[in-house]
Amino acid sequence: TYLPLFLEGDVIKGFGRGSKDLGCPTANYPLDVVQKLPSEFKPGVYYGWAQLDCGPVYKMVANIGFCPYYQNKEMSVETHIIHKFEKDFYGSFLRIAIVGYLRSEMNFNSLDDLIETIKQDIANASKNLENIESQKLKNHSFFVKQN
Ligand code: ADP
Ligand code: MG
Repeated sequence: TYLPLFLEGDVIKGFGRGSKDLGCPTANYPLDVVQKLPSEFKPGVYYGWAQLDCGPVYKMVANIGFCPYYQNKEMSVETHIIHKFEKDFYGSFLRIAIVGYLRSEMNFNSLDDLIETIKQDIANASKNLENIESQKLKNHSFFVKQN
């Protein structure tokens, strides 16, 4: 298939869907970066690795789906980096390696269900990224050497 898949670009302001309020901020890419996804890319929740500028490579979970903002004609890639940052990093350069698929997009009956599912996604991503094949990708030459 098309995984692993590497994307890079600036972090821009998203659509203010309040991911932060759910305890799960997601860094958004501009449209030209998203358009590099293959046309057959399956929407859903993915896990992988993320690097901001020349920083460390962290685990991430990414929601990749059709974007209501563009009448669902375009995809959006929203990356939650599994790390606690002191401040926002709009304008930083974000590199991600999309390593594996977790689940399809779904609708939730309640906010609690959504929050519970996000927690599970993070736990599943974290676990899957511990395997040897995933660890190799963490050290891939796509990521720049840390300062
Ligand atoms: P927006 O709609 O602008 O994307 P979000 O509520 O999704 O707003 O918050 C995303 C922003 O939060 C990111 O662009 C980044 O600057 C900041 N941020 C802080 N911590 C993280 C994190 N762990 N993962 C992703 N983004 C984070
Ligand atoms: Mg966001």
